[in-house]
Amino acid sequence: MADYSEMIAGLRKAFNSGVTKTYEWRKKQLEGVLTLLDENRDRIAQCLKDDLNKPSLEAAVYEIDFSRNDLIETMNNLKDWMKPEKVKKGLLNIMDTAYIQREPYGVALVMGAWNYPIQITVVPLFGAIAAGNCVVLKPSELAGSTAKALEELIPKYLDNECVKVVNGGIPETTALLKERFDYIFYTGNTMVGKIIMRAAAEYLTPVTLELGGKSPVFVDENSDLNLVARRVTWGKLVNAGQTCIAPDYVMCKKELQEKLVEECKKSINEYYGDPAKSQDYCRIINERHLKRIKKLIDGSGDVVVGGDVDEEQKYVAPTILTNVKESDPVMMEEIFGPVLPIMPVNNAEEAITHINKGEKPLAMYVFSKDHEVAKKFLDNTSSGGFVFNDTMMHAGLMSLPFGGVGSSGIGSYHGMHTFDTFSHKRAVLERKHGGEAMVAIRYPPYSEKKGSIVKWIMKKTPQKSGIQTLIPYFLFGTIFAVLFKKFEQLMTRGVRKKGTPYARK
Ligand code: NAD
Repeated sequence: MADYSEMIAGLRKAFNSGVTKTYEWRKKQLEGVLTLLDENRDRIAQCLKDDLNKPSLEAAVYEIDFSRNDLIETMNNLKDWMKPEKVKKGLLNIMDTAYIQREPYGVALVMGAWNYPIQITVVPLFGAIAAGNCVVLKPSELAGSTAKALEELIPKYLDNECVKVVNGGIPETTALLKERFDYIFYTGNTMVGKIIMRAAAEYLTPVTLELGGKSPVFVDENSDLNLVARRVTWGKLVNAGQTCIAPDYVMCKKELQEKLVEECKKSINEYYGDPAKSQDYCRIINERHLKRIKKLIDGSGDVVVGGDVDEEQKYVAPTILTNVKESDPVMMEEIFGPVLPIMPVNNAEEAITHINKGEKPLAMYVFSKDHEVAKKFLDNTSSGGFVFNDTMMHAGLMSLPFGGVGSSGIGSYHGMHTFDTFSHKRAVLERKHGGEAMVAIRYPPYSEKKGSIVKWIMKKTPQKSGIQTLIPYFLFGTIFAVLFKKFEQLMTRGVRKKGTPYARK
C-alpha cells in the first residue's frame, strides 16, 4: 500500500511556515488556476470528450466556464472575505472588540467524482486555496484522461510545496485516508461518503460530503406540459443523466402521463434528433454503470421512449418509463443515467408522503402555475436545493449554497460558501488590559448584591413588538447624544477644528 505520510508531513510543514495565509500567496495561486484553465481549454475539452463524450459546449459551460466564473468571483472578493467580521455585542462587552476571524484549517483533502471531473475537483481546490489551506487533490480515476491532465498541469501552475495531486483508485484513496487531514471535502456516492466519514472520525477531521440520491420532480396539473417537458428532459439528459442534481423521477397524476410523454418525445427529438448519432449526447462512464442502468430499465414500468443500450458504444438512449411503482428497481436507487421514470400519484400530498418515506434528496423540482403548490412542498419536505418551475438552475447561482442534507450530503459550497467551508470561524474577543474594577463583580466570594447586578447585566428579554421596541433606543440615543456633545465640547476646548473659526470657551 502506498505511503503518503512523507507527502502530508511536507504539506504540513509548508502550512506551518505561514506562507499560505498571506493574501499575496492565495492571489497568486488563484491566478495560476485561471491561467491553467485559459491556456488548456482545448486539452481539457478533449479529455472530457475522451472520458464521457462530453460535447464541447457542455465542457465549456458546465466545466471550464462554470469553474472560471466561480474562480473570478473568488478572486474579486477574496480581500473582503478574508477581513474579520464584526459581530453584535451586549452590555457586558460594550468596551470590547468582538469579531469572527476566518482562518485556514491546514492540510485539506479534496476528492472529486468523475461526472463533472473538472468542475467538481477544481472549484473546491481553489476554494481551499483561497481560504489559505494546503491541498491534496484526488481526482476520480474513472475519468482517467481528465485525472491525468490535472496531475500533469497542476504542478506547472501552482505552488508544488503546498498543492499535490494524487491519482489512483481505491487502494490509493484508502492509503490517503489513513493520514491525518485537517479537512476532507468529498464528492461522490453516499456509500463511499460513509467510508470517508469513518476515516475522518479517527482524527475528528471536519468533512464536507457532496453526495447524491433521488431528486424528485412533481408536476402539478396546472402546468404548461410543453415547458415542463423541455426543462425536465434537458436536466435529465445533460451529461446523459450523470448529474448529481439531475431530475431523477417524475410524479404526476395518471391523466397527465400520456401528454407529458408526448411533449418529452418532442423535446428529445428537438434536442438530439437521433441521439445515437448526435454529437451533443454523452456516453455512460463505464461498462459497470451501463449494465446497472440497463437492469433498471428492464425491471421497471413500461418503456415508452428509448430503451436501447449499446454496450460497445457505452450508449443508453434517452428512455422514459411510465406506470412505475414505488417498489420497482428504478425507484430503489439513484438512476444516474438517461432514464426518466414517471410514477403516477393522486395528488401533491401523496407525492410528499412518498418523498418523506425516503432519504432527503439533493434537489427537488416542482412545476405549477400556482405558487401555493411550491409552498406546500417547501413546508412539508426537506432537500439540499429546491427549484420551482425548472431543474438544476440553482447550481449556477453562486450566492446559493450548493449541497445536500441527510444522506444527500453534509455542508455546502460555491462562491463565498466554498471559502467559508474551508475556513474555521475563530471567535475573537479583545478586551482592554485595564478596567479590572468593572469586571470584579464576577469573582468570588459571591453575594446576593453581586448576583443581582450580574443578572441585570446579562439579562435578555423577549423581543417586544412595534413601538415598544423603539422606546429604549430612543431614550438611550438621547442620553448618548447629550453625553457625546458634552464630551466633544470638553475635548475640543482650546482646539481649532478644521474649517471652523477658533473660539475659546
Ligand atoms: P467515483 O467512483 O469517482 O468516486 C468518488 C471518489 O471516491 C473517487 O475519488 C474515488 O477514488 C473514491 N472512492 C471510490 N470508492 C472508494 C472506496 N471504496 N474507498 C475510498 N474511496 C473511494 O464517483 P461516484 O461515487 O460514482 O460518483 C457518483 C455519485 O456522486 C453519485 O451518487 C452522484 O450523485 C454523486 N455526486 C454528487 C455531487 C454533489 O455535488 N453532491 C456531484 C457529483 C456527483
